[in-house]
Amino acid sequence: MNSIHLLPDLVANQIAAGEVIQRPASAVKELLENAIDADASKIQLIIKDAGRTLIQVVDNGKGMNFTDARMCFERHATSKISTADDLYHLKTKGFRGEALASIAAIAQVELKTKREDEETGTLIITEGFQIKEHTPTVTQNGTSIAVKNLFYNVPARRNFLKSDAIELGHIEEELNRLSLIHCEVEFSFFHNGKLIQQLPSSNQKQRIINVFGAHFKDKLFPVELNTETIKISGFIAKPENAKKKKNEQYLFVNQRFVKHYLLTHAIESTYKELIPEGHKPAFFIEITVPPSTIDVNISPTKIDIKFQDDRMIYAFLNAAVKKTLGAHSLIPQIDFNYNPQYDFDKIKPKSDVKPPTLTLNPNYTPYNSKSEKKISSSDSWEQFLSGLKKETIQVQSNESYNIKFSAEKKEDEVVIDENQLKCLVFNDAYLVFVWKEALHILDLFAARERILFEHFLHALEHTPVVIQQSMFPETITLPASSVEIINDILPELRALGYDLEQIDRTSFAVNGTPIEEDNSGVQQVIEQFVEMYKTHQFLHKTDKNSAIAKSLAKQKIHSKLQIISEIEQQAFIKQWLQCHTPHISPSGRKVSKQFTSKDIIKFFE
Ligand code: ADP
Ligand code: MG
Repeated sequence: MNSIHLLPDLVANQIAAGEVIQRPASAVKELLENAIDADASKIQLIIKDAGRTLIQVVDNGKGMNFTDARMCFERHATSKISTADDLYHLKTKGFRGEALASIAAIAQVELKTKREDEETGTLIITEGFQIKEHTPTVTQNGTSIAVKNLFYNVPARRNFLKSDAIELGHIEEELNRLSLIHCEVEFSFFHNGKLIQQLPSSNQKQRIINVFGAHFKDKLFPVELNTETIKISGFIAKPENAKKKKNEQYLFVNQRFVKHYLLTHAIESTYKELIPEGHKPAFFIEITVPPSTIDVNISPTKIDIKFQDDRMIYAFLNAAVKKTLGAHSLIPQIDFNYNPQYDFDKIKPKSDVKPPTLTLNPNYTPYNSKSEKKISSSDSWEQFLSGLKKETIQVQSNESYNIKFSAEKKEDEVVIDENQLKCLVFNDAYLVFVWKEALHILDLFAARERILFEHFLHALEHTPVVIQQSMFPETITLPASSVEIINDILPELRALGYDLEQIDRTSFAVNGTPIEEDNSGVQQVIEQFVEMYKTHQFLHKTDKNSAIAKSLAKQKIHSKLQIISEIEQQAFIKQWLQCHTPHISPSGRKVSKQFTSKDIIKFFE
């Protein structure tokens, strides 16, 4: 006797539904996407009991005729693609033709639809995949689909649902993912008869504000990049808007919300050290690429995506975001292009991808020339990236401060015209100065921690500090618990100028110290440093070099800071301006605050 047989349609569709419709929010997503694919300009979402008893989507899109209205519930029934080749030219959200079949297998559905060019509409009622009614009806142009009692015949799924608040949260999230990218469409959302959200047609910035609230009003920076092969647009939020949760991160590819670890990293990495550890920046970024260069058909919910060349997309996105942050930051990012984790110069588009043509809008950055610039051909990478590179501010320098960046770093030197820089130390804790048409207040402790941290990190990663060898080495004694740690980081300590050598179980000879330091205080420096390093390693699992640099910077900020004369103050500002990430201290404190004349006028209004 044969044992293989085909599954009945209802069972096959219930199995498929398991993948596509996991919870009410998945049905919401599919129905909203269908309304958008039908070119609706107005969409209503009506929910009861967090989607358990009713999910209804009413649109004013193109509707379906009598036959299509019946067909749409069949599995693999779609009007969106015909051949496999069409998969590479997708312009619609749907194409697999399985959403309505899946929903009909696990709910009772009432569909009313009418095309503009037809007199009457169609009503269809289904239950457990059975068509109960299919008749002409009077209804308005467009489509209304009401999904009632979701999972009524799949108790396991129904019992698996979370609280109303959680399910409603998922529904809102699906609505956000669509409404943030289809700003031209008007959305309204009702729950249990109450209007929860009304989103009029608007531009993207206004849509973001309408969705997330007015606190975003002055905190969004535009991101824009245009090339032949990729277009990037959208907004990133000011670093101070970063939150512990990731819930304001929206990445869209060809108008589809996607989750992509690498591309998220391309954005997040540019905020590194601008925001406290563990915080996530908010962003709303849309990437447009030729449909043939992506594959969205790798998961039933189409939220994952594969790019032909994700390294190239990474580089463009990373550069575009950096450009925006640089253009809108309080002060110039001196070595803006430097990112130890990702080396731009090594990234070239693959040979099968056309060299990009870049249209740069100089309004977004102070680094470019005044007019709109169009760069094409193979040198665009260099030109584009060099557009992001350092701004050199003219005139001479004056080094009196004893923290020195290496020769290599000096080429990015910020040169300040002393005649134009008026400074004042306030309360022994703040440095106030006017620069670039803004009044800056610098927290001396936080700024010093930042300067020291970058100086130490540079010594560890690039150019070691010059060591002054000691004729008569001091001996330092450390707790047994610190000895193993010191031995593990001896080479790093040497790069920072401390040449130590173990002489017995708990003692070290200090054979050399940093050139600007005598060896009398080394016992205290190393002791306190190791304690900070231990705590740091325990609390944050950052990489070794940055943990060492952070701990030593923390230890050193307590030593006396000599910035009495104007020259010392200017030198300090210069050191600070040379930092990669001047705005935030390595331990997450704000370093500076600026007031533009606009801010001041506003204050006095
Ligand atoms: P897909 O969206 O993948 O094509 P669905 O099962 O979601 O599959 O929908 C099947 C078909 O039903 C669609 O291809 C479309 O032709 C039609 N359809 C579904 N919803 C609507 C709607 N709101 N307006 C017009 N046509 C719709
Ligand atoms: Mg669909």
